[in-house]
Amino acid sequence: MIKLRYRIYALVTIFAFFAAGCVNNSSLTENSGEVKNIIFIIGDGMGLSHMYSTMTVYTGEMNITELKSIGFCKTHSYDNYITDSAASGTALATGSKTRNGMIGLAPDSTMLMSLIELAHLNGLAGGVVSTSTVTHATPASYVSHNISRNNYDEIAEDFLITQPEVFIGGGLDNFENREDEKDLVAELRKAGYNVVVSIEDLLEVDSDRVAGLLAPGHMPKMSEGRGDMLANSAKIAIETLSKNKKGFFLMIEASQIDWGGHANDTQYIIEETADLDKTLGVVLDYAKQNGETLVVVTADHETGGMTLTGGDLAEHSVEASYSTGGHSGICVPVYSFGPQSVRFTGFFDNTEIFEKFAYLLSLKE
Ligand code: MG
Ligand code: ZN
Repeated sequence: MIKLRYRIYALVTIFAFFAAGCVNNSSLTENSGEVKNIIFIIGDGMGLSHMYSTMTVYTGEMNITELKSIGFCKTHSYDNYITDSAASGTALATGSKTRNGMIGLAPDSTMLMSLIELAHLNGLAGGVVSTSTVTHATPASYVSHNISRNNYDEIAEDFLITQPEVFIGGGLDNFENREDEKDLVAELRKAGYNVVVSIEDLLEVDSDRVAGLLAPGHMPKMSEGRGDMLANSAKIAIETLSKNKKGFFLMIEASQIDWGGHANDTQYIIEETADLDKTLGVVLDYAKQNGETLVVVTADHETGGMTLTGGDLAEHSVEASYSTGGHSGICVPVYSFGPQSVRFTGFFDNTEIFEKFAYLLSLKE
């Protein structure tokens, strides 16, 4: 017995020796290193089919292939196997499951602290960027606490309470064209925000507090000429947040992949996923030169039950079919890059993403 154990020990030692010889610099940083900043990209509704159909159409040019640590994340909500974006946004932002439709509140309606609120408590900066209105469920989960995701005007008021250093997206109407006639744009300016309403003005901004409300409602689709709004907004958000020397948390959402999924519109899905990937390129450029920035890309859930039923790699074409006009219950991929990214491999719950982020940034309540 002792002999056998010794042999196993010797074998393990030899394996460990060879494995160590194979370790290159990039896998060393995936396992270790300080995390000062986290950039979290959410493709709303972006399942594996959404990504792979985009890879098929854009063969060889995808930034996502640089993210070597891959895991799977469960998405169910507190009260439903199939989550909505409010409950999954809340799980990702606060680490707690809740009921579908609720923003930043526990199932019993008690307040949950979001990563941005926790970042502020610990002296770090926080921001959200989105191609929907900034008051929509996914960005709202990081900023607001509301019984219903549909209370957009109330959610807008929470931006003045939480005060993320940067928020960019659509939704100007929730700030200055409100039923109660309050002028939240004026209040944001009073609170020290540089408020801009066009992408041209956004690109000129150099401030430590930026509110970019670039459309009355949601941003246009890529096919309607949104252009590089998301990539440019990510760049400005990083420039703004990196003024904080203690670090930052930034959530960037490609909101409309979900809407392509709801419409069972393959072209819409692919154009919006390609936009996420282009934005990821800007984020990776920063993360590579910074060295202390963890980048994680995932979805809040899958939309459409999208399946690839045919395609042609040489022709860069795909055919898809869909099992639903809503969300599905399947887990979603998690792709990560940078220091400690190996922690995001394997199978885990969406609430654990919050826990890992809070741990890595040493955020304490
Ligand atoms: Mg969303
Ligand atoms: Zn949806």
